[in-house]
Amino acid sequence: MPELPELEVYAENLRPRLEGRTIVGVEVVHPGVLRPATPEAFRERVVGRSVTGVARRGKTLGLALDSGERFDVHLMIGGEMFWSEGAAGETAKPPEPVLTLDLSGGARLTFSDPNYNVLRPGNPKMKLGLNQRERLGIDPLDPAFTPEALGALARRHKVLPVKALLMDQKLIAGLGNAYVDEILWECRLRPRRTASLLSAEELAALHRAIRALMERAIAHTREQAAGEIRGEFREYFAVHHRTGKPCPRCGGRVAHEWFRERTTNWCPTCQA
Ligand SMILES: [Zn+2]
Repeated sequence: MPELPELEVYAENLRPRLEGRTIVGVEVVHPGVLRPATPEAFRERVVGRSVTGVARRGKTLGLALDSGERFDVHLMIGGEMFWSEGAAGETAKPPEPVLTLDLSGGARLTFSDPNYNVLRPGNPKMKLGLNQRERLGIDPLDPAFTPEALGALARRHKVLPVKALLMDQKLIAGLGNAYVDEILWECRLRPRRTASLLSAEELAALHRAIRALMERAIAHTREQAAGEIRGEFREYFAVHHRTGKPCPRCGGRVAHEWFRERTTNWCPTCQA
């Protein structure tokens, strides 16, 4: 699932392509992605509107329209975006399209989701729509996200394991399962440690790890995407999805467990 670093780079690369373009048509393959809006109601509000800005909010992308409304995109687990323009775009067929925006100048932005028909109804899948209201916590890149702010959040939620605190979008917006495993490895904390009981030094190390990892991941994703609308580049991960492999720091074996229905990886040897 794309998280803060990937969404940040998607926003950077979509901005010069989308800003100033007008939405001239919408092709809806799976109307469910727009729920509760119908395709007709959605078309009425976006066709003829131009895109004035692209911004990331947590793990959501928001396309600002000149009507004052915002088209929100949440890619969920396996969602992707495909951009095409000019002659190449006429033959390009993105896989598993759920919705396509036709834009002025012959450009198209297609949202694809291989999970759309695979998962049971009600399970996570791509969400698109206008002005979706989500109660979002503080963004890790916000200057107000200080070690003190992190400590205050931890104290307010006494029984939360640190992994759950970092992944709750209503508390901290933008981090997900993969990067949280890496952050906790970086600052040597076990995922199940109770956040409110961390020492001041541990909280400071956790805050440093969040900032450092986000900055590194954004820089790496930016470099690998090379200006294209492309997804996840996580080949350097230390523990996430590396069950049984050696920990790059201590050589111990990376462990796996289920944590709140999500897979969790950590190193039992060097994370305390
Ligand atoms: Zn280790």
